[in-house]
Amino acid sequence: MAYSKKIIFFLFSSLLLLHVVSSVEFTVVNKAVGTPGGVRFDNEIGVDCSKQIMVASTDFIWKIFQQSSIADRKNVHRVSLFIVTDYDGVAFASNNEIHVSASYIANYGGDVKREITGVLYHEMTHIWQWNGIPNAPGGLIEGIADYIRLKSGYIPNHWVGPGGGSSWDQGYDVTARFLDYLEGLSSGFVAELNWRLKYGYSANYFVQLLEKPVDQLWADYKAAYGH
Ligand SMILES: [Zn+2]
Repeated sequence: MAYSKKIIFFLFSSLLLLHVVSSVEFTVVNKAVGTPGGVRFDNEIGVDCSKQIMVASTDFIWKIFQQSSIADRKNVHRVSLFIVTDYDGVAFASNNEIHVSASYIANYGGDVKREITGVLYHEMTHIWQWNGIPNAPGGLIEGIADYIRLKSGYIPNHWVGPGGGSSWDQGYDVTARFLDYLEGLSSGFVAELNWRLKYGYSANYFVQLLEKPVDQLWADYKAAYGH
């Protein structure tokens, strides 16, 4: 490629990149600098990598939710990630902020970058998903977040396998596996379900989309895996 062509190509690529990310600003602040978790975050993950994960997961979530235009998406302009010392769980999302526990990072045994990547796919889903204003069962909301994590591939070993769990709205990995089964019955199901959750929640959504009550779908699912 001639030099001028390279420049033009570079400018064009930069413009494209700017276009893709310009509608949402991602910020990362390590508020745990100097603590074991803050140090491990800087050494094994870092601010730049976290921002890349936020961009990539956002793109991934919009694809799964089939939200190809800005009008389809939640109206969020900035998402902030904080590594914090004042939270003892793993992470949570609230008010377009994601808080990740520094002590969880410090004490995680294994590939902490891979684990936090998965955690961020889950938490970023909370930023972008609809919640039935806000009447969707908590287990369904957590299940959709873990469904995205499941599809990203960044899941931990301790998750249940397909067919695991005792109820469809148990949440997290259990509901994620169930949603994956339902997606197999009808491609785009999770996107459709999320779209409906913009306007409220009804158990009838399952009947409308899959022609069976959710309890019947759960029974079919358990039977399909021999439970
Ligand atoms: Zn969650």
